[in-house]
Amino acid sequence: MECNPLPGSIIFNAVKDKNCIIMACNTRIIPGVTKGIFRAAKDLDSAIIIELAKSECDQEGGYTGLTPAELSMRTCAVAHEVGFDIWALHADHIGVKKGTVEELNSVKELIAAQIKAGFTSFAIDASHLFNFDGRTLAEELAPNIDATIELARFIESEMEGRDFGLEAEVGEIGRTDESGMVLTTPDEAVIFVRSLNSAGVHPQVLAIANGSTHGNIFDEDGNPIEQVSIDIQQTRAVAEALRKNDLDVRIAQHGITGTPRHLIAEQFPHGDIIKGNVGTFWMNLVWDVLEEKQPDLYERIWDWTITNYAVEGKKDIEIFGKNSKFAVKQFFDEIYSLDEETLSVIEDRAYEEAGEFIRAFKSDGTAEIVREYMRA
Ligand SMILES: [Zn+2]
Repeated sequence: MECNPLPGSIIFNAVKDKNCIIMACNTRIIPGVTKGIFRAAKDLDSAIIIELAKSECDQEGGYTGLTPAELSMRTCAVAHEVGFDIWALHADHIGVKKGTVEELNSVKELIAAQIKAGFTSFAIDASHLFNFDGRTLAEELAPNIDATIELARFIESEMEGRDFGLEAEVGEIGRTDESGMVLTTPDEAVIFVRSLNSAGVHPQVLAIANGSTHGNIFDEDGNPIEQVSIDIQQTRAVAEALRKNDLDVRIAQHGITGTPRHLIAEQFPHGDIIKGNVGTFWMNLVWDVLEEKQPDLYERIWDWTITNYAVEGKKDIEIFGKNSKFAVKQFFDEIYSLDEETLSVIEDRAYEEAGEFIRAFKSDGTAEIVREYMRA
């Protein structure tokens, strides 16, 4: 079976001035979901990215139960079956939390496994490394910059001359302090990217903290709410500062689950943002279908999550919304042996929803743009 995900760099460079956002899907649950997404991408001729983060997928399987090799193999099989060519396999949040030699070495082992599995794009996330005692922005960002450079150079050497996509992250997504969300400033983004560039590291996309939160979100009473907190103005300001400083990088938007599609279509700065991560949404979709089609399995997933993650004073719906991701590995065998009918409902729904996202992201037709870019 031939399987050739494209280098992420080719997709990012081809679309960077086309006022669109390429959807990156964290397919924590592959059955039905991945095929629906690929079918929508094919019908709308939209480039697409499939990704999982280090927490979701590592050599031990992460919380999805998938190793990099399994994610790659299963995704390639679907791409091949659907017959769609313009996609990249991306390593989301290659997280660095401490920056110690031991940690960086273990992260490098993960990266080596991802490269061996055929990943073509990588997001280094050292945003947790922040020097709170720094006197200048450069000093504050130094630990993040140093770790990002070290890992980017490692990827480059392991890729042995092949092109690859690169995403870096400045400002921890979803971080809050006493005054609320901590947002990445234009100056931080400029200093960060300039420092990487002077070390020969050139990410095509930059993840910033701009008001989004990963996963499902809830109000103070534990009721699920839509996400309307992404700070569009700040995002534009960061993108503009990067452009003004001749830094050839666009924004990667994380944490889109829960954001109304009309808001994405009407207000997102397409072209400033060129990568949009949609993760938890796909898992929610599977849970919804199981609740209808496999109520017994759904109930066991629900009970397992509540039993293991209940917190005093929190509603079950919030406990489930925030922790059911850990049930994916627990119920792996059942999820991966669903009957044809359930699978086809998941697939059709994923197809519809992926189409809605692609239209809101205005990425329909981008696959042909990428093909032309490769021919030129
Ligand atoms: Zn993220």
